[in-house]
Amino acid sequence: MKNSEPTIYDISSPGRKGVNLPIPDVPIEDIPDDLLRKDLNLPELTQLDVIRHFQQLSQLNHSIDSGFYPLGSCTMKYNPRINEDAARMPGFLHSHPLQDINTIQGNLALMYELQELLKEIGGFKGVTLQPAAGAHGELTGIMMMRDYHLSRGDTARNKILIPDSAHGTNPASTTMSGLEVIEIPSDSRGNVDLDILKSKCGDDVVGLMITNPNTLGLFEEQIKEVVKIIHDCGGLIYGDGANMNALTGILRPGDIGFDVMHYNLHKTFSTPHGGGGPGSGPVGVSEKLVDFLPAPIITIIEEGDEDNPPLFGFTTPKHTIGRIKAFNGQFGVLVRAYTYIRIHGSSGLRSNSEHAVLNANYLRSKIEKTYNLPYKRACLHEFVVEGCWQEAPNIHALDISKRLMDFGFHPPTNYFPLIVREALMIEPTETESKETLDKFADVLLQIADEAKTDPQVLIEAPHNTPNARLDEVQAARQLVLCCRPAYLPEPEPMQT
Ligand SMILES: *Cc1c(COP(=O)(O)O)cnc(C)c1O
Repeated sequence: MKNSEPTIYDISSPGRKGVNLPIPDVPIEDIPDDLLRKDLNLPELTQLDVIRHFQQLSQLNHSIDSGFYPLGSCTMKYNPRINEDAARMPGFLHSHPLQDINTIQGNLALMYELQELLKEIGGFKGVTLQPAAGAHGELTGIMMMRDYHLSRGDTARNKILIPDSAHGTNPASTTMSGLEVIEIPSDSRGNVDLDILKSKCGDDVVGLMITNPNTLGLFEEQIKEVVKIIHDCGGLIYGDGANMNALTGILRPGDIGFDVMHYNLHKTFSTPHGGGGPGSGPVGVSEKLVDFLPAPIITIIEEGDEDNPPLFGFTTPKHTIGRIKAFNGQFGVLVRAYTYIRIHGSSGLRSNSEHAVLNANYLRSKIEKTYNLPYKRACLHEFVVEGCWQEAPNIHALDISKRLMDFGFHPPTNYFPLIVREALMIEPTETESKETLDKFADVLLQIADEAKTDPQVLIEAPHNTPNARLDEVQAARQLVLCCRPAYLPEPEPMQT
């Protein structure tokens, strides 16, 4: 699909320049001809042309700073600007991961304290800050679970149980680590079906991956039984912590028997995300798994005293799965999450979760008479409705989402979880005002009305964006990551 916005090549004009290089004060050597590239085809523009072009492109993006962004499961909350001030402090910004540890004690102290805070928040014995995102944390966790069993001579375990409401990264990371996925259906209340769970759990199971609250926004009502069933058959519990915005300060997964869990610092702890990163997915583990953590872990290697601060450094856990990320993780994201946690403190984090849950239930109660709620229960921080009606047979969840864009709202998550037809997954987060929630609910009710009286207005939406309906499958299969002059051939499709 061609973008209707002009590219920087379209506005290029021969002879225009954006820079004035000084006359060189060193002799210009002859450059061998074969080292000179003649096919660069760089666009020719003034500085102002370039600034305006990219400024205008940036304004086509929707962001949490420009409007409501209720993208379920992804926790798009406001990024307090003090996070940015902290991440831009020169000592953090200009440090290099290969510096001698004596010159980066402040950075290591922050990482150490963040490990401690995350241990406290999740109820875990150890934490690694290395994984670059939630999915990477999942892979890290599964590798530790697998090695734990192998180290005990328990070599026949090769299956991971995953509820059918799970995020797609759960089966993907399981498959990537060479294990087999066994899907566990949900029961009529949206919980894991206990009888089926029991029948699938045996001495070939590495463990269960579970999201709580699950991706329907529902608290697993029998979570203690679930944990017991898995532990009784020798398996471990992996918690997908992407939904920690419902629980932070209220429930610690480690306390109810979770053995390992990733945090999405870019969701729960406010680092801005979307568009591909950077994220950060630290992993917390129980006693059983501390020796398997990736290396290195930030540790106090020399205790301090009244006159001297402690010396921070790196240590290697006894049965480590090895290094899973270059250098020390996404340091800038760690600084933002640390700042966020320290600014809010434990009572602030708890109150954020309480308000996230309150906002979701408020919004749910405003629309549930119009949009069918498949599991009729109070939700936690998000909820899922069906984006379809018998009276509007041609309208799909996607049409509702596209129509929402006409009103300046980012669409909710579509078609996930897979067990709800025409799913719309809505997560308002705690940072939105009652006025915003009311306006969003009003628009959703108006759209439901239009679906039945004037469906064409939904089917043709969005009406004011440069592109309306993209071929998302082709966009993912045939990535075009840079703009190219029109006269160059289209790039070869990526082999996937
Ligand atoms: C976002 C999310 C993930 C994956 O996290 P990334 O940081 O995007 O890799 C996993 N599970 C759930 C439920 C999520 O919402």
